[in-house]
Amino acid sequence: MTTQLTGRTALVTGASRGIGRAVAVALARAGAFVFCTSTKEGGCAETLAAIAALPAGSGKAQALVCDVASADSVDALAKVVLETAGKLDFLVNNAGITRDGLFLRMKADDFDAVLATNLRGTFLVCKAFARAMAKAQGGRIVNIGSVVGLSGNAGQANYAASKAGLIGLSKSLAQEFGGRGLTVNVVAPGFVATDMTAGLTPEIKDGMLKSIPLGRFGSPDDIAGSVLFLCSDAGAYITGQTLVVDGGMTM
Ligand code: NAP
Repeated sequence: MTTQLTGRTALVTGASRGIGRAVAVALARAGAFVFCTSTKEGGCAETLAAIAALPAGSGKAQALVCDVASADSVDALAKVVLETAGKLDFLVNNAGITRDGLFLRMKADDFDAVLATNLRGTFLVCKAFARAMAKAQGGRIVNIGSVVGLSGNAGQANYAASKAGLIGLSKSLAQEFGGRGLTVNVVAPGFVATDMTAGLTPEIKDGMLKSIPLGRFGSPDDIAGSVLFLCSDAGAYITGQTLVVDGGMTM
């Protein structure tokens, strides 16, 4: 059994920073060629530099621009990836946003924007690649969810709904594509120190820390390790599951 991914091709959406960058670097370190996306031209420059600095024998990477909320943008991405690489072995749907607010103050636009990126975006990207991945047999889709998709969270009705939706989407795809050797799973992080959580108040962070048995926030590398596991031979017989990676916060 090996975690070596040499000769394999991966796509990580939202790989410009945070969890997406760590996942892209981990897959490249294991030998995969990694397509990295950002909504901005040049957005993945630091990720590409980190991959270029990996030891010899590591995989290489290519940056592409994609807005997962736009079907045209996703179709253009799929065209480039499949024409360049000829196949896709690992699809990591990581791109995500928050627009937090208490429910009575939450605007429908804030609900729609979060669902459009987190849930519909994942649907669009899966749709653009599933046929080619199923044809090749043995592919892996990993959707980055959140523990709040399981527990809900006051102030995040839109985000929690999008992440809960990802679980249903993933289980359905796991059933439809299992016969083609394609696994589909969710990795559900708890609190991870990234730009997404940087704006939370010290009071909120202190409160969260007290509820984490392992006594620390997660790092992007903690999440990347779980994605690597699901993409490796060790994850071959796991599908339709939600792997919670939260230091024990939601047991
Ligand atoms: P982050 O640092 O804010 O990074 C978000 C990434 O998503 C960026 O690369 C961004 O790309 C990309 N993105 C945003 N909107 C996009 C769109 N419409 N199309 C394509 N890409 C888009 O967030 P993070 O903390 O690393 O989170 C990554 C994932 O983990 C998200 O799905 C998030 O919900 C999930 N998660 C995070 C935590 C946490 O505590 N941090 C906990 C649970 C789950 P640009 O370069 O274009 O900005």
